[in-house]
Amino acid sequence: MTDLNSSNIQAIDSAHYMHPFTDHKGLAEKGARIITKADAIYIWDSEGNKILDAMSGLWCVNVGYGRKALVDAASKQMQTLPYYNSFFQTTNVPAVKLAERMVKLAGEHYSHVFFSSSGSESNDTNIKMVRHYWATLGQPERKVIISRNNAYHGSTLAGGSLGGMAGMHAQGGVIPDIVHIEQPYHYGLAPNEDRDAFGLRAASWLETKILEVGADKVAAFIGEPVQGAGGVIIPPKTYWPEIQRICDKYGILLICDEVICGFGRVGKWFGSQLMGAKPDLMTFAKGVTSGYLPLGGVVIGRRIAEVLIEKGGEFNHGYTYSGHPVACAVALANIDILEKEGLVDRVFNETGPYLAQKYAELAHHSLVGGAESLGLMAGFVLMKDKAKHINFDEAAGVGMICRGHCFANGLIMRAVGDRMIIAPPLVSTKAQIDEMMALIHLCLDETLIDLQKLGLMD
Ligand SMILES: *Cc1c(COP(=O)(O)O)cnc(C)c1O
Repeated sequence: MTDLNSSNIQAIDSAHYMHPFTDHKGLAEKGARIITKADAIYIWDSEGNKILDAMSGLWCVNVGYGRKALVDAASKQMQTLPYYNSFFQTTNVPAVKLAERMVKLAGEHYSHVFFSSSGSESNDTNIKMVRHYWATLGQPERKVIISRNNAYHGSTLAGGSLGGMAGMHAQGGVIPDIVHIEQPYHYGLAPNEDRDAFGLRAASWLETKILEVGADKVAAFIGEPVQGAGGVIIPPKTYWPEIQRICDKYGILLICDEVICGFGRVGKWFGSQLMGAKPDLMTFAKGVTSGYLPLGGVVIGRRIAEVLIEKGGEFNHGYTYSGHPVACAVALANIDILEKEGLVDRVFNETGPYLAQKYAELAHHSLVGGAESLGLMAGFVLMKDKAKHINFDEAAGVGMICRGHCFANGLIMRAVGDRMIIAPPLVSTKAQIDEMMALIHLCLDETLIDLQKLGLMD
């Protein structure tokens, strides 16, 4: 690599770098956008363009870019103890402190934390842990895990199997004993039904599935409090309390995948705290370090921890980087920032409601259906005819058209099919939310003109 100009890097990129979730032929034709630096809620590319990152990277940069305290925490820990494992009866101070701190944030219901380096690994851990729990209690046949269509629980074989993404299941296959129910997507599935009534009906699909599988074979139900990668699907408020009731009724373990909703995204430390659920296990990753270093894990409820510790013997599971001291030190510094700057409360009391108000106004746009937000995550679907609830033909790729306008105008907004979603850093101010909204309006107008030109509007 001698000459590091952009086209050179793009050529080397397509020659050697296999990207995640990418169509490489398409990418090679266009060339990847090279991101070179970042500060607060903005990123810059190699052409000098400044872009408002309304996706917090991949839902993770909760405290924003350029936070020196996180850099210092990593540097200090690297100089003291850059690595040691937690196998063979050893431990390290940052991991211990972080476990204690997370249990405090999670509440009385929880006692322990298991660490990994990602959300996917954490959900693999969950599968093994719930099955080991039931086997320890003499019910090894309780193996089935119920998940939901359009859920995202990671990309390892087990994580992808838990998820409800058909495209992922189609490549590489799935592991057995995982079944799916329909997602609680009110606007997409039953826009004319009363929202709360739909929430109860969507939760009842869990009970139907439990009875179909046999309650004595079901180990756990897993769900994201708000589905993220599926397109920011915010369930009706009746949904989670009813899911909890059904899990309790059949003694089934509840796993909340908090990888996106955790660490302030919805205005509480964990999404389930807002939703009225008390999961036995909570998956975390992403926002725990604001993405500065890879870290994930599972917060473990007392019900499970007690059984595993008292009767479970050795848990034959773990990762080289479980409890990595540098990642844990960064997580502690990240939590310090969230607390000192009151970011979680600010999302709950101020910026979350402000974004909700702005999203309600967005609904006036002729393309926008089902615009809603919770905390600092928000979505809407591009509609061909809102009044008649007619979607665009999937093949038309209108989400990608809209996303293209966003990129061109200096805004990162993600397209999930025709759903357009954002999850900006929690440090975003009201003025920055205004800036985002102005860009969103502009991009919607430009998208509408394109769609009219393409003859896609009636
Ligand atoms: C991103 C994500 C994961 C996977 O996390 P990785 O760190 O990419 O393995 C799991 N669950 C949810 C809800 C996620 O958003």
